[in-house]
Amino acid sequence: MDADTARLVERRQRTFGPTSVLFYETPMHVVSASGVWMTTADGQRYLDVYNNVPSVGHCHPRVVEAIARQAGQLNTHTRYLYDIIHTYAERLLETFPAGLDKVTFTCTGSESNDLAMRVATAATGKRGFIVTDNAYHGNTAAVTDVSPSSMPGKPLPPHVRAVRAPDVYHAPTDDLAGRFAAEVQDAIDSLEADGIGVAGLLVDTIFSSDGIYADPAPFLGPAVAAVHAAGGLFIADEVQPGFGRTGDAMWGFMRHQVTPDIVTLGKPMGNGFPMGGVVSRTDLLEAFTKSVGYFNTFGGNPVAAAAGLAVLNVIQDEGLVAHAADAGQYLRERLRALAGNGHPEIGDVRGAGLYVGVEFVRDPLTREPDPDLARRAINGLHKKRVLIGAAGRHGNVLKIRPPLVFSRENADQLVQSLEEVLSI
Ligand code: PMP
Repeated sequence: MDADTARLVERRQRTFGPTSVLFYETPMHVVSASGVWMTTADGQRYLDVYNNVPSVGHCHPRVVEAIARQAGQLNTHTRYLYDIIHTYAERLLETFPAGLDKVTFTCTGSESNDLAMRVATAATGKRGFIVTDNAYHGNTAAVTDVSPSSMPGKPLPPHVRAVRAPDVYHAPTDDLAGRFAAEVQDAIDSLEADGIGVAGLLVDTIFSSDGIYADPAPFLGPAVAAVHAAGGLFIADEVQPGFGRTGDAMWGFMRHQVTPDIVTLGKPMGNGFPMGGVVSRTDLLEAFTKSVGYFNTFGGNPVAAAAGLAVLNVIQDEGLVAHAADAGQYLRERLRALAGNGHPEIGDVRGAGLYVGVEFVRDPLTREPDPDLARRAINGLHKKRVLIGAAGRHGNVLKIRPPLVFSRENADQLVQSLEEVLSI
């Protein structure tokens, strides 16, 4: 570590203490970013395939300009009337199916899921939630309760049931939809037997922290029907897959041909400006606001609206949804070709659009997870100036989710670098 980096690490430990988490054996001191590139203090440029928050590209000039212009004109909270938040709300809601026609603004994905759970509890009169068994939904107390990945090895709270992630690689089936629904039904039965009942099924529609499970879609319909039959709601967490990343549509739930009761938004919504939202229906919000009000000081402020509107405009004008489909398909083909060309340690390549998982295994027959190789690949790619992370219960799945402007040429660089790292 050079002296400047060491000094920063020391200042950080002195002020942050034990909550400080840093990536990599040698932490990175970054100073600027643009598009799919991040630049460090020593002037090196890194290909970013990790960060999905700057979704339309790091420091996109249109988003930067919109934020700066609005910050210089007016920034306040939502208890006054101003035009831009309503323009944004209308434009955002146009991207949802009929019925999902109300939005409540928050500042983070955690706040969005926390609010969605409160709305579901008020609307159903029940307290139970069903999630997948390595899900992450955020960091508030209530949301940590439904995030098994935050408390590995610890028992879930009494009102939470976990079902297996929809994994057809380790547990093949011809009927994924039926199997997933049967497990959700068991969870419903268990919550009812305990007198808790089901308020909602909450899933990230790309199952990112579980290990990225996209196919064979659609597979969520029967599980959603089972929850509805039991009086519960379906909450789609779109914090990871939303805003076009899956390449099929703006929202990950759309590839499953289901309409959620509540949708939660965050991360890419403001391209880095902290903003989130909950999209739902009047009847659900009425039940909630009858029992308790909701006000979020920073949620939906004019600068957030300007950032969000610029993001929607860029997604549309640059055709980023179709681009994500094309670049993602190309990347998966190249990764599969790499696997077939003498790299059996790549057991599976999967995903949708620019949310791609590469699963490392010790043996392609037993499919035993290989988290050590994932760790080596992450650090090896870092040395080759490619930023990447891992997902899944075992941490053995490379998680590829770059800014959506990621090109075929960027995909070539990633695959070439991965090949070099795996061949060492
Ligand atoms: N839901 C999912 C699926 C997430 O991945 C995350 C963040 N990683 C959250 C919710 C929470 O978002 P935030 O960190 O903005 O609170």
